[in-house]
Amino acid sequence: MTERSLTETEILDSVRRNYEEVTENIARAAEASGRKKEDVTLLAATKTVEPRIINYAISLGLGHIGENRVQELLSKYDEYDLEHCDLQFIGHLQTNKVRQIVGRVSMIQSVDSLKLAKEISRVSKLGAVNTDILLEVNIGREENKSGVMEEELEELLCSAAQLENIRVRGLMAVPPICGTKAELGKYFDKMYKLFIDISCKTLDNVSMDFLSMGMSDDYKEAILSGANMVRVGSKLFGARIYR
Ligand SMILES: *Cc1c(COP(=O)(O)O)cnc(C)c1O
Repeated sequence: MTERSLTETEILDSVRRNYEEVTENIARAAEASGRKKEDVTLLAATKTVEPRIINYAISLGLGHIGENRVQELLSKYDEYDLEHCDLQFIGHLQTNKVRQIVGRVSMIQSVDSLKLAKEISRVSKLGAVNTDILLEVNIGREENKSGVMEEELEELLCSAAQLENIRVRGLMAVPPICGTKAELGKYFDKMYKLFIDISCKTLDNVSMDFLSMGMSDDYKEAILSGANMVRVGSKLFGARIYR
């Protein structure tokens, strides 16, 4: 016999419970690190999640969603309730796909090269829009991972800051998979230090508003290390089913 699939009500109920739990945990971690719950932004990572479920979460108060594949974002775009929520891009972005999302997303979190920043700037200017970006740092120096290396960050930042129609709003990272929370905490702390160091430099046209790090398994730790934006997927919507 096949397992009974969840009814619509059961699915929505679990999303509601998850949302309450995650927002409560965020509030607690924010307070434990001397901040208010409003100081930490929850962005829901919505890959594989159907728009009606996403919109249900938006109806509960979710204010930010992020997709990480261009095709999926475009196919779901007309169905998102974007009157009550902002849409960002959080995945690896190829330069030739930039024009498909500029104007549709408020922020692109995963900029790791000047080439990509230039294309976002060019397309934004053409469309007479401004696009916020975060610079993604490869904090674990992993070979097959996107992100700029720490020592190249400042140069990228200064060059990107000079481009028209984009604004650098902070940093983003996806740390390596770690065996222990202590090991992971070192990467989060390192990111926070980079974030603070750059904030202190007050570079023109750069505002270090967001430090985006922490996902379902580690968003509390990330907040305790100083993250002010967390990207949570499965802890909100359940395990992903890839089709
Ligand atoms: C999927 C994804 C997340 C969220 O992952 P979960 O572990 O399901 O919370 C966060 N950031 C990025 C870039 C992602 O692609």
